[in-house]
Amino acid sequence: MARTRLSFVVRRTERLTGHLIRVHLGGPGFEAFQPNGFTDAYVKLQIPGPDGDTTRTYTVRSIDPELEQIAIDFVYHGQEGVAGPWAAAAKPGDQLDLTGPGGAYSPSPEADWHLLAGDESALPAISAACAALPASAVGRVFVEVTGPEDELDFARPEGVELTWIHRGDREPGVTLAEAVRAEPWLDGEAHVFIHGEAQVVMHDLRPYIRKERGVPANRASISGYWRRGRTEETFRQWKRELAESEGAAPAAARR
Ligand SMILES: Cc1cc2nc3c(=O)[nH]c(=O)nc-3n(C[C@H](O)[C@H](O)[C@H](O)COP(=O)(O)OP(=O)(O)OC[C@H]3O[C@@H](n4cnc5c(N)ncnc54)[C@H](O)[C@@H]3O)c2cc1C
Repeated sequence: MARTRLSFVVRRTERLTGHLIRVHLGGPGFEAFQPNGFTDAYVKLQIPGPDGDTTRTYTVRSIDPELEQIAIDFVYHGQEGVAGPWAAAAKPGDQLDLTGPGGAYSPSPEADWHLLAGDESALPAISAACAALPASAVGRVFVEVTGPEDELDFARPEGVELTWIHRGDREPGVTLAEAVRAEPWLDGEAHVFIHGEAQVVMHDLRPYIRKERGVPANRASISGYWRRGRTEETFRQWKRELAESEGAAPAAARR
């Protein structure tokens, strides 16, 4: 992942749903920004604060070469945290530095079918993946959001079925895991992308996909994007400990 710090400026913001804010970023950093072609391309934002910058990881939802802008969709999960409140208060002219992009996944054109699942934090990457699928692609997509006011439709091939899951008052990830497990498994080789609340993704869905369904690691992009009750800093520690306990250092632990 490119480590050079690129300087961006907020051009405009949009409230997409009850909990999702899109921030359009342009400015001098755009010229040096090198897209990597992955649909889960992510950047490390340097959120400015009174005590210095705080690093937060976000997906590049889209790149607009004509306007020389990138768009990032932030989940606004209340006034706790750094990035969510920053996005809610962002206004044209605000500066935001970032490094990247990194990334690892794009839907394989050779797969017989695609399974994509996640919560709001993974919606940008899931939407970008669906936009990259060929028109003939077959797939099942599950997105867990709080309620109907958080649904944000996106383009996808006809053969790709989208199911919105409303968690309501339940803990993040639980309803998603139930829906994925209940879905009949299709024939042929699957390519899987599952990201969201880490405990459920790593301890429930990953064993289901890898062990019960036998999907090999190179066909399964599965990791947590955030962890309930942890900031990104303490979540990184959780990921390192998980990787150590498994005797490996998967790419997800380094994100
Ligand atoms: C590769 C990658 C790509 C990502 N892409 C996106 C993206 O495009 N959009 C996006 O919104 N997020 C994305 N995330 C997740 C995002 O980095 C985390 O949600 C991050 O913790 C948010 O920072 P914060 O400062 O708002 O909250 P933090 O200071 O990190 O956390 C404060 C509190 O808020 C809780 N919290 C954090 N995130 C959420 C959430 N989504 N819902 C509910 N509670 C939460 C934490 O558990 C903690 O208790 C991505 C993560 C990774 C690793």
